[in-house]
Amino acid sequence: MEGDALSIRPGNGIELVSGEVTCRFDPHKLAGEGLNCISHAHSDHLPRSMESDRAIASRVTLRCASERLGRRLVEDESPHVRMLDSGHIRGSRMFLVDGGAKVLYTGDMCPEDRFGMKGARPAKADALIIESTYGQRGWDFPPREEIGRVIRDWAEDSLAQGFSVALFTYPLGKSQLLLDILGDLEPYLVDNVLCSTQWVEEEGGEEFRYRPCQGCSSAPSVYICSTGSMKGATVQGLRKGKLRTAYVSGWALRRGFFNHMRVDEGFPLSDHAGHDELLEFVRACGPSIVYTNHGFDEDLASDIRMRLGIEARPLKELKEEGRRKRTQRKLMEYH
Ligand SMILES: [Zn+2]
Ligand SMILES: [Zn+2]
Repeated sequence: MEGDALSIRPGNGIELVSGEVTCRFDPHKLAGEGLNCISHAHSDHLPRSMESDRAIASRVTLRCASERLGRRLVEDESPHVRMLDSGHIRGSRMFLVDGGAKVLYTGDMCPEDRFGMKGARPAKADALIIESTYGQRGWDFPPREEIGRVIRDWAEDSLAQGFSVALFTYPLGKSQLLLDILGDLEPYLVDNVLCSTQWVEEEGGEEFRYRPCQGCSSAPSVYICSTGSMKGATVQGLRKGKLRTAYVSGWALRRGFFNHMRVDEGFPLSDHAGHDELLEFVRACGPSIVYTNHGFDEDLASDIRMRLGIEARPLKELKEEGRRKRTQRKLMEYH
């Protein structure tokens, strides 16, 4: 690896300079110079402002980002950047940048194939920037298709007993996964779950089975709602009848997490890699250095060092280091 030609640091998203290539992963602002790479369309990864309309991203991601910014983004490309499926949600991508040294940025990722969706595949890289949402020991998920079957049984049992069911989750990603599992029950899509699903259909070339929600149905039915619509009119209306509720998120693995959410069930169906999946992914990429990002970043970095013998550190340390250096420089100016 050409050590001095490679620089990775948090700034406007994650900034990478590798040889001739300058790019930003999930930048807050789409910059006019260099390459903007957007991994997927969850809000914490999307730009909030733009001085350029160009970005390397999948069509689904470009559409969602455009809708959010209220301006149409244009697809960019570079011979140095390869997009790979990250298996996280519809349209999510990893970026493999080759500017001499190979750098893989995973964004959010999930390596397990599930419900017809392909998981992320490892790619050989010199440096790896990997998400670490569930990077702590103990956060390992049961096979996701098994959880899907549990959700399905619960929904069918509830309907048979005369209950409607409301599943709360992310509008983009998990909602479409729930449609893979429950589509033939023709769920009603509430509020922004509907438009997210339509964007995926239009840009991703998929078709799902569902009904747009226009108020509460009199027959027991399945409703897929965003977590933000828990207090909305539809859900309030549903609560007046026979209703069972569930929250669908990896965090449901911990008992008690949903007590304060006023739901009957929590299903730990996650679109992120669990701890052991992360370690296995790192091993298979064979990097010489790993930067962990988000969540349990320190735990995962320490496990990568101890268990795999690969140099690893939380990405945020680079930010703190930069800040320390700037402060030191300032102090030197005053003395
Ligand atoms: Zn995400
Ligand atoms: Zn994320």
